[in-house]
Amino acid sequence: MPDPTTHTEILIVGAGLTGLSIADALIRAGRNVLVIEGRDRIGGRIMTAEIADAAFDLGPAWFWPGQPRVAALAQQLRLEVFEQFSEGRLVFEGADRAVRRDLNMAPMAGSLRLAGGLSGLTTGLATRIGDDNIRTGHRLTAISSTNGKIAAEIDSSEQITITADQVILAAPPRLLEANFDFTPHLPAAARQEMRATPTWMAGHDKIIAVYPRAFCRDAGLNGDAMSHRGPMAEIHDASPNDGSCGALFGFVGVPAVQRRNKDQLLTAAKAQLASLFGPEALIPTDIILQDWAIEDLTATKDDEVPPTSHPAYRPIDSLANLWRGRLHIVSSETAATYGGFIEGALEAAEVKVAELLSQ
Ligand SMILES: Cc1cc2nc3c(=O)[nH]c(=O)nc-3n(C[C@H](O)[C@H](O)[C@H](O)COP(=O)(O)OP(=O)(O)OC[C@H]3O[C@@H](n4cnc5c(N)ncnc54)[C@H](O)[C@@H]3O)c2cc1C
Repeated sequence: MPDPTTHTEILIVGAGLTGLSIADALIRAGRNVLVIEGRDRIGGRIMTAEIADAAFDLGPAWFWPGQPRVAALAQQLRLEVFEQFSEGRLVFEGADRAVRRDLNMAPMAGSLRLAGGLSGLTTGLATRIGDDNIRTGHRLTAISSTNGKIAAEIDSSEQITITADQVILAAPPRLLEANFDFTPHLPAAARQEMRATPTWMAGHDKIIAVYPRAFCRDAGLNGDAMSHRGPMAEIHDASPNDGSCGALFGFVGVPAVQRRNKDQLLTAAKAQLASLFGPEALIPTDIILQDWAIEDLTATKDDEVPPTSHPAYRPIDSLANLWRGRLHIVSSETAATYGGFIEGALEAAEVKVAELLSQ
């Protein structure tokens, strides 16, 4: 653990894909870097649960052809890529409870997954970065700049301060704006734009039901379902590619404020799965619910109502050259092309690293 007087050349706050990717590149370029992470785990929105030797993504699950950086990183880390299961029919449930099982559709066909889950990306990067350079359970609570040095106040098992020449806040802009004070204050335009930038998927709730086998496929169903009734609005196959078990996952369509009773929600979700996919779906061996809207290191109150479509993310001009170029704010939401996606996290990281190494 760093002592109360620790100094580092570059402090990176946030061990999500953006922060880890920046740290990895800077360390390879010979820079002195320390990563701190508020949670007790790395990965941020990338989170994979292990159940009975199988991996299930509770945050992102997919990337897509045409996203070069994720594909390249997966290849470097020797992670196995496989296609989302898409053979068979989709189930449609109307608001009137009527169920159709005759639709030859697979909305996620062609999307790609990683065997072992997407956390293979973040654990692979963390291994390269090394334990000595990453501190989990270290939450930034305040940040200030005096005489060309930045001081970061950290809440861990004890209160510590880390000073740095440069600080990279690798977390969603909206979250950072809401969570602590910057001294001196950020310009009003920057604060306004940070608040106005939705954190992608932060208001969502994902349920994963695990079964001994992918039984839906026996009936010619691909595991996809669309529902106007709920509680899950959109369901997809989440089975591992080795066939060791079956799984379905769904995004809950109920707004964040109305889904506080977890037990009720899980009971309703199981009943819905059974009405869509048959009685075998009523008795999963495991069922997990991950509500991102209540994670205070991901979502703010403003994220409780998610955007209805993918926002047009772009670099935020008012975040350029903060504190004479010593303070940086970067996450997938600041990427120019793939903002919001894991590809965007790598894209934003790549741009920031190029900027830092050119100084
Ligand atoms: C349910 C869900 C489904 C998704 N599905 C997909 C998908 O299928 N495909 C896709 O491409 N993308 C998807 N996404 C989006 C994807 O997860 C993000 O684009 C990506 O993970 C963002 O990485 P990041 O490092 O920029 O941010 P984050 O992962 O949010 O990382 C920020 C890190 O900063 C830490 N942090 C924050 N504040 C502090 C503090 N004060 N002190 C210390 N640490 C702090 C956080 O704990 C976190 O670890 C999904 C997201 C969710 C939630």
